[in-house]
Order: sequence, then C-alpha cells, then structure tokens
Amino acid sequence: MSSETGPVIVDPTLRRRIEPQEFEVFFDPRELRKETCLLYEIRWGGRHSIWRHTGQNTTKHAEINFIEKFTSERYFCPSTQCSIVWFLSWSPCADCSKAITEFLSRHPKVTLFIYIARLYYHTDQRNRQGLRDLHNRGVTIQIMTEQEYCYCWRNFVNYPPSNEVYWPRYPNVWMRMYALELYCIVLGLPPCLKIIRRHQHPLTFFTLHLQSCHYQRIPPHILWATGLV
Ligand SMILES: [Zn+2]
Repeated sequence: MSSETGPVIVDPTLRRRIEPQEFEVFFDPRELRKETCLLYEIRWGGRHSIWRHTGQNTTKHAEINFIEKFTSERYFCPSTQCSIVWFLSWSPCADCSKAITEFLSRHPKVTLFIYIARLYYHTDQRNRQGLRDLHNRGVTIQIMTEQEYCYCWRNFVNYPPSNEVYWPRYPNVWMRMYALELYCIVLGLPPCLKIIRRHQHPLTFFTLHLQSCHYQRIPPHILWATGLV
C-alpha cells in the first residue's frame, strides 16, 4: 500500500468514495446535521470480493434508497447468501426500521450489520421500538468506534496522498454514551442520554440522566465505560 498515491492504488475498482470533509462532517457524533450518509458493502455467497458504494437521503431516506436500488438493479435469487454491512451516520427511523424488517423477511438469506454514528431522535418511542424490532430480527446494530472510523476512512474515503493513517479521532465519550443509550433501547429501558442543542450555539451538550432501573439492568462495566458514572 503506497502512502504517496492515496486510495487509488489500494482500490483499482471504480467504486465511489466520498471526500474527507464529507466523511468528517457526516459521521461526527457531535454534529446533528439533517442529512444522512450511508456507506455500504455487499458480499455475495462465498465470494471474497466485496462490492462497496455510498448513498444519501434524497426525497427518501438513505435506507429506503438502498433497498430500492438493491432490489431493482439485479435479479437476486432468494436462496443466495448475502452479507450487507452499513455504516450509517444516523440510526434508522421507525419507518425505515419497518422497511428493513420487511426487506429481510423477503430475503431470509441476507444478513445485515449496521454501524451507526448517532442515534436518530432516540427519545421517540417509535424509533426505539423500530431499533428493538431490528435487533430482535437478528440485525446487529452497533455504535461506530474508532475501529470503524478507521475502516471507513481507508475503504470509503478519497483520502489525500500521505493521509492513509489519518482519520477523524472523535472523543470516545460520545461514542460510549450512544452505546449506552443503544443498550437501553435494546433492553427496553427509558432513555438516559439527553442531547441539548442550543439555537445559534455551535456546541451540542450530551448529559446522562440515570435512573435506578438503569443501575439495576445495565452491567456496571458498560456504565463505567462512559467515564461519567
Ligand atoms: Zn428513515
């Protein structure tokens, strides 16, 4: 792998990459920007090759665009094993979670892994139930960690020459708080993460509001991992 030629030498295919600045802004766990970015890879059957692409929301959410593109662009035999990995800047909303569940029901050989940078309106009960439904359907949902940021940088970003080892190092505390909240969602606990964004103020505030049920149900090491308990 050459550090002088950027990603082109690593990736001779013509798959689409996003620009570094796009990646940094879209996937910043502190940025509550409206648009969603989806980076995805698909592995068919037992093949080693991975097909990568990117997508965003248009008039429809990024997840719906993916499903429509996936099901319309080629004939897909329902008995073919297929592994899909999404890196999503926002977690799926309730409607998208329902569409994903229906998509997976129609394609039982598809396995889906979803890594998310942020939880979308995480106090909304419909969104929480949607994520729980995905989890119960067998979808793996995790908060992106430094490992995934590094992976996406190298595989989806048109990083400049000599910048292969650079990827945005966001403070871990935001990722850990989102991970804790995702844990609450899966367990059916009330929200403990509060996000406050003041108008015309550049900073977003994240605070934890833990109740006794959180202390009772969440393993201590996960609470301690936030560094705030
Ligand atoms: Zn959606």
